[in-house]
Amino acid sequence: MKKAKSLIHPCNSVRLFRVRPRLLLPFIGLAVACGSPPPTYDVVVANGRVMDPESGLDAVRNIGIRAGRIEAIATNALNGTRVVDAKGLVVAPGFVDLHEHGQQEESYALMVRDGVTSALEIEVGTGDIPAWYAARDGGQIVNYGASIGHIKARMKVLHDPGTALLPAGVGGSGVASEAQIAEMEAILRKGLADGAVAVGFGSAYTPGATMAEIERMFRVAAEGNASAHIHMRNGVAGLDSTIAAAAAAKAKLHIVHVNSSGDTALTAFLAHIKAARDAGQDVTTEAYPYGAGMTEIQSALFDDWKTWPDAKFGLHQLVSTGERLTRKRFEEARKIGGTVIIHGRTEAQTREAIASPLTMIASDGFIENGRGHPRTSGTYSKVLGKYVRDEHALLLMDAVRKMTLAPAQRLEARVPAMSTKGRIRVGADADLTIFDPATVIDRSTYEDATLPSSGIPYVIVGGQVVVDSGHVTKARPGRAIRAPHASP
Ligand SMILES: [Zn+2]
Repeated sequence: MKKAKSLIHPCNSVRLFRVRPRLLLPFIGLAVACGSPPPTYDVVVANGRVMDPESGLDAVRNIGIRAGRIEAIATNALNGTRVVDAKGLVVAPGFVDLHEHGQQEESYALMVRDGVTSALEIEVGTGDIPAWYAARDGGQIVNYGASIGHIKARMKVLHDPGTALLPAGVGGSGVASEAQIAEMEAILRKGLADGAVAVGFGSAYTPGATMAEIERMFRVAAEGNASAHIHMRNGVAGLDSTIAAAAAAKAKLHIVHVNSSGDTALTAFLAHIKAARDAGQDVTTEAYPYGAGMTEIQSALFDDWKTWPDAKFGLHQLVSTGERLTRKRFEEARKIGGTVIIHGRTEAQTREAIASPLTMIASDGFIENGRGHPRTSGTYSKVLGKYVRDEHALLLMDAVRKMTLAPAQRLEARVPAMSTKGRIRVGADADLTIFDPATVIDRSTYEDATLPSSGIPYVIVGGQVVVDSGHVTKARPGRAIRAPHASP
């Protein structure tokens, strides 16, 4: 319990949910005696059903925002320059997406309409933290941040020919020498010194990296108090060796998209993660609510394509054209490059991953030139509409926690700024997502991934309204999320 004093404004008797009624008694007289007019907030979100997973608050309140922060959470009316009428709507902390590759305006504009207020590129990350942040200076729609990435470090050190996100050759398949491993460690250390929020890994995309190499990199993450976010390889056995390597390195481990990495072994995956947690290891995970994945067609995931049965090619949908592939078309497309959607998981698997108390929600989104995976635009509203409202697969507050508090807490040890995100409390950043629980739903499809979600009329980032009556405004209040860093 915080001190009551810091939670009550003496002149407008703003009462906060954390305060026990008996703690209010000494202040009632003060509130009555005070004659000055109540403060005007920059923005007031009025009469919404405020849901905060940290405190458990789930009640109608008015929220007063000033200078980008939440200053009041009140039962009485507040006076604001702009008043957003949230009657009948849920007011949640803005959604924090730990897995978002679409780090440009086109993706941000779709994600924000799905409720995302902080988008982090952590799985792949970047090889150059200062350049990555400098490219986004000046304000974005949403807050943004990146990890320093082992994949990127490997591509650089081994001189991979790939020019997109992932290795297209030796950076993935090559075995590194001791000197090259030391070079990778140095890149990761520099990235952490430059303020990377975490360390990213993709052992599935770097089959040449031994578990000993991965463990060396986990040790660098641990030195920096950074979580290691990994797209791992080799199913349950790979999960066990990844958990063991993280334990040996004393690194905080985050398994990305357990739905696709677990695939048909999802139940075992979740059980092994739970067992590690129960044994005291810091292991977390995430999922996105779709039965298909997406990745680059030149990546190492498809190195065995020549051995596939013909039927398997039809599960692959080329993003640039929307066509389902054949053996011949797959071969042609792999030469050219681009992204491919991989169908095949069952609805029961997706539901299990989303409903599990272990998972956070993260999109793994990416849209470019109007093409991409529908998860970029629809992940959060699909969970809220389909899995919470329509199918009762999980409770609304649990879903909100998976989208807000849990991902913020994942980064907090290294990034203190995350302790003011993912919550609705006085002093927290005014990042808010305001949605209609009766209508919120995704609209994007595998054929048109740019259809924005509906039922999320307002989104606020840093105290500024960035989605207003469902439309993206001109405000660009999104700022860098970064760890305290040594270099400027
Ligand atoms: Zn990803």
